[in-house]
Amino acid sequence: MIQYIMIHSTNKTGQGPLSLKECLAHADETKELILAKDALEAIPRLITEFFDHKTLCLIADENTYKAAGERVKAIAEEGGLKVGAVHIFPGGDHLHAEYEHIRFLTKWVSSLPDFPALVPLAVGAGTLNDLVKRTAEELDLPYLCVPTAASVDGYTPNGASLLMDGFKQNVLCKAPRVLAADLGIIAAAPAYLSSSGVGDLASKIIAGTDWIIAEKAGALGAPEAPAIDPIPWTMVHQGFREALEESVPAPRGDQDAIRVLFQTLAVTGFAMQYMKNSRPVSGAEHLWSHVWEMEDLRFKGAPVTHGFKVSIGTLAATAFTEIFFADPKGPPPQDPSYRRPSRDERRAQVSAAFKGSRAHDKIIEASMDKMMDEPLVETINEAFRDSWTAIRDRVMDLLIPYGELKDILGRALCPLVPEAIGLSRSQAIADCRRGQMIRNKYSIVDLAWDMGNFEGILKNIEDSNLYLR
Ligand SMILES: [Zn+2]
Repeated sequence: MIQYIMIHSTNKTGQGPLSLKECLAHADETKELILAKDALEAIPRLITEFFDHKTLCLIADENTYKAAGERVKAIAEEGGLKVGAVHIFPGGDHLHAEYEHIRFLTKWVSSLPDFPALVPLAVGAGTLNDLVKRTAEELDLPYLCVPTAASVDGYTPNGASLLMDGFKQNVLCKAPRVLAADLGIIAAAPAYLSSSGVGDLASKIIAGTDWIIAEKAGALGAPEAPAIDPIPWTMVHQGFREALEESVPAPRGDQDAIRVLFQTLAVTGFAMQYMKNSRPVSGAEHLWSHVWEMEDLRFKGAPVTHGFKVSIGTLAATAFTEIFFADPKGPPPQDPSYRRPSRDERRAQVSAAFKGSRAHDKIIEASMDKMMDEPLVETINEAFRDSWTAIRDRVMDLLIPYGELKDILGRALCPLVPEAIGLSRSQAIADCRRGQMIRNKYSIVDLAWDMGNFEGILKNIEDSNLYLR
């Protein structure tokens, strides 16, 4: 009998992270997540208990098929299940979250003789799971996920991060019905994937500080700025700092750390499954990574992992937040040359910034949707100035100071400077401008843009001897 592994489950004070069991009670799409050393052995039982069919179609890539797919297939067949078909994507770094793969997979699955009496089974990391997640959604087939690395928070949410017509977006689709996360398999993944997981995990702090800011602006009328929901907030933030610290040795193969890292990423994914959007788990830091994902950022010829881009994005967003809230007396002054552009001027700025991009039109749309009228902006700015101490205290209380964050990410072997992911420091700082344009999802960069101190903050980062160095 496989036991649940529940971290801090004995903590009855409510201060430790929520257990998987507690999160599953809040999840309306995922019925079971087994995180254990021999989780694969449970697959026959899980299929019988949670699915209507006993024929599987297994999707993996060359690496994950070797690492886990072969064993999954053998265990399934020994357990009386039929593996109707297997699709293996090429290995290496070739697999991108491109929509064309979903077009292929939906065609392939629906052409199998047993369709629709099939259970798709994804054996892989973030991208492969996202491709199967969306395919399963389009074919209306619940699926089972076998994660092969603790590299992203994307296994448990009800959405897939996909490039659609060149535009990186979170596309809604049902979360896996069941996950069988085998710690032996996950621990054997390359170290850089666990480092990427720590990078993605650290971003939850900025997701939190941005939510505090968004809630305040949203109460006055800012778009896409919902109030804090205590359930996903608790899932992400209760005991988070300890869990992040305990995750740090994961890239060095520490089994306990890998377990904590996977579980904490899964728990934050459940917060998204509960909220039905990415607000609890992603803030301004992911804007940097989305810009770089749209451009297929590479370093030494290889694609940069999501978590590595987020690591730099989180450092940059932390720098931005520290500078914005540096003065206990009030926000930074307006830039001397600041003048708020008209809607037409803004459209032209955004259009120029994304000239030639396949995502050009969608980005214009997002940037226009989020642009508020001046009286509303003034009301929001005034509210922040009036309650500066209170809001600043809440943000600074949650924020991990830049030096401390850098230390955590460094010990987890994450990139600490833009050059480590193939970008110049100036470019990485400047990309905040484009990041602010692409999403209608209120965050600190929107507040600074509306206050007219956005450019001054970027200059401050640029001139500093600390940030992104
Ligand atoms: Zn992420």
